[in-house]
Amino acid sequence: MKRCLLCQQLLCWQPDMKWLFSRRSAITPPICSWCQQQFVPIEKAQACPGCAYPGTGGEVCLDCQRWQRTKQLLHNQALYRYKTPAMVDFFERYKFHGDYRLRWVFAAAYQKLVRQYPRRQWLYVPIPVDKETFANRGFNQVVGLCPELRLTDCLRVIQTKGRIKQSHKNRIERLQTLQPFALNATVDLHNKQIVLLDDIYTTGQTLYHAQAVLVAAGARVVRAVTLAR
Ligand SMILES: [Zn+2]
Ligand SMILES: [Zn+2]
Repeated sequence: MKRCLLCQQLLCWQPDMKWLFSRRSAITPPICSWCQQQFVPIEKAQACPGCAYPGTGGEVCLDCQRWQRTKQLLHNQALYRYKTPAMVDFFERYKFHGDYRLRWVFAAAYQKLVRQYPRRQWLYVPIPVDKETFANRGFNQVVGLCPELRLTDCLRVIQTKGRIKQSHKNRIERLQTLQPFALNATVDLHNKQIVLLDDIYTTGQTLYHAQAVLVAAGARVVRAVTLAR
């Protein structure tokens, strides 16, 4: 018997007929239905088409209107609300306590969302983490969310001494941060379509920094997918 990855309760899951006849019949959900219900899904039709902020009635939000003046809109898609107790707790355990097993909680749903962009036409580019974070955590949390996708590691973090951790900065400081990314020069990005992969969209600054590097290298379109918004 499998246990829920989040609350350890035994999973007494009954597959329905549709599930039994699908090709994924061997896979059981990684968490129990109670835990699943604690996460608040974002309804795409009612969210901002730029950043996936929920409840705008499908209109572009004010923040994205500002981005639109100087950038190509990222058209971020996100699965769940970030500022809910369950999601904040999830990221606390996954990222800050480094519980790598928890990548399976959302891996299937996250990859499904990314695959809306066919791999033949799009490159999947994960947002990198800096060396210090990687050493502490032991993994890149975004790469963990997509174990079955072929990723293109064309971005790296520019190492600066004493860089303040993103999570320790307030919103204004985050917006003013200088370009943190550089290109791994091995990939030809000319005229490419790129989906940026990240875990959380907060201000959008990180993703727009990444977009700028990719566009400067010749990318034609840059979009984004995040787990939470
Ligand atoms: Zn549970
Ligand atoms: Zn927006």
